Amino acid sequence: MIDKILEYQKLDGNKVKIEKALSENENKKQATLMVKFVKEAQSKALKMDEEAAKLKKEFEKLSQVEQKGLQMVEKYVNQKTEGADLEGLEETLSRMQKVLKQLSDLEDLLRKNKAQTEEIIKAFDTLKNKLRAAKIKHKENKDLYEAELAKKGPEIKATTKSLEEMEKTLDKELLAKYKAARKVGIYPVFVPLEGNSCGGCRISMASAKVDEIKRNGHIECYNCKRMIYNK
Ligand SMILES: [Zn+2]
Repeated sequence: MIDKILEYQKLDGNKVKIEKALSENENKKQATLMVKFVKEAQSKALKMDEEAAKLKKEFEKLSQVEQKGLQMVEKYVNQKTEGADLEGLEETLSRMQKVLKQLSDLEDLLRKNKAQTEEIIKAFDTLKNKLRAAKIKHKENKDLYEAELAKKGPEIKATTKSLEEMEKTLDKELLAKYKAARKVGIYPVFVPLEGNSCGGCRISMASAKVDEIKRNGHIECYNCKRMIYNK
């Protein structure tokens, strides 16, 4: 019984090798990285968009205030000075100076707003270019990986078919144990007893366990969960 499952395991090894190579495929890794980059860039772009909208609102508000300030200055300038006393003139002048100071501060704010907006537009353009490059890189890598997958596909399919054929002749209990272990990524599942140690993880077995292996043909390693058989 063990011989048959070992033969099955050997054939399954081909499949494991191909699947491992595919999962470690550099093009696949790159394509995955690009997907991650695109997602991050999209959320960055969204934040930039929000920031730009905020700056635009601020700009509109500042412009409105500026407009009002200018109107006020105009009003002061056009004010008839005839008949006004010196005190009144001085007061008007002082108010005008105050408005002019506020306008100058406003100019600074508007300048700052403009600079920030320009910075965001520049950053957005850079991001857009990077995004475009990432999309191209993603497609290139995805195509290469899919070509590899298409190349290996028939081999996997043929091996799977042979394995299924073999399964019909295997002990059901052994096969179930094998499949359960494979499902959690263990390969090889069946390993020989080497002296008193597990042939998989090299851990030492108590002599009672060694006797059990010899008596039952196999036991599960308490450490690596492989099936240790007596060769
Ligand atoms: Zn072990």
